[in-house]
Parts: sequence; structure tokens; C-alpha cells
Amino acid sequence: MINRKIEDAINAQINAEFWSAYLYLSMAMQFEADGYAGIANWYRIQFKEEQAHAEIFINYLVSRGGRVMLKAIDEVPTTWASPLAAFEATLAHEEKVTSLINSIYALAEAENDYATRGKLDWFISEQVEEEETANNMIDRLKLIGDNGMALYMFDQELAQRVYNVPAPLAAKA
Ligand code: MG
Repeated sequence: MINRKIEDAINAQINAEFWSAYLYLSMAMQFEADGYAGIANWYRIQFKEEQAHAEIFINYLVSRGGRVMLKAIDEVPTTWASPLAAFEATLAHEEKVTSLINSIYALAEAENDYATRGKLDWFISEQVEEEETANNMIDRLKLIGDNGMALYMFDQELAQRVYNVPAPLAAKA
């Protein structure tokens, strides 16, 4: 049985992952409206990944005999000035998520909950990847600047992204 403090922290993280999903779907919808089908595809896949992150935490809480409590998902922004602005907001958000994951890790250590600490290892690596990817997109968009052809090619490239079920969820299926 999981302790109450850890249960509350994971429930808060489930909500944060769904908020992330909602944020990225909102970004996808702006890019659909603006004619960037590739960037929209990329953010639709982020949307799915974030839902998968929530589900991994849900499955974990269930497996530990915890109670999942789904709360309201706060409103998300709806407009960004440019693809660069969206990826900068993505990086800032992922840095925040990293600090949330780190806080749960510290709590799990303080509470001697080694199972939770171990479960978080995958998320810690995932956050390194999320931040690296967002940073890479920002660098590329800064290089692209206002070069329309380069931006078109960037959009075409992001259209190629496909969704892969995250490993901890694939293992569960
Ligand atoms: Mg996430």
C-alpha cells in the first residue's frame, strides 16, 4: 500500500500530465489553423505522449493499491506568436515538469518509498529527452529565421513524426 503523501503527489502529477496533453493539443490546433500541418502533427503526437505519461502514473498508483482521483484540468493558452514562441513555451513547460518529477523523487526518498523512486527513473530520462528536443527545435527555428522555404521544409520534416507507445505503457499492454 502506498503512503498518502506519495499518493497525493502522484495524483497531482497525473493532473499535470493531462494539463501538458491539453497544452500541446492547443498548440496543435493553432498550427492546424495557421497551415503548418507538420508542426500540428508533431504537437498531436506530444498530446498522445502526455496522455500516456498520465496513464503510466495511473497504472502505477492502481498497482500499489492507491486511489486515482481525477481533478479539473486548468485552462491552457490558445495562441502563440510563432512556431519559435510555441517551442520556447514548450521548453519552459518541460523544465517545470522536470522540477515536478524531481520533487516527487525527493519525496519518495524522504519517505523510503524505493518502488516509486525506481518508477520515476524512466520519467527522469524522458525529461532529459523532452528538454533536449525542445532546445533543438528552438535552435533550428532561430537559424531558419524568416526564411519561408526553410520553414516549409521544417514543417515537412515534422509531418514525418509517428507515435510510439512509451515503453512502460507498451510493457503493460
Ligand atoms: Mg509528460
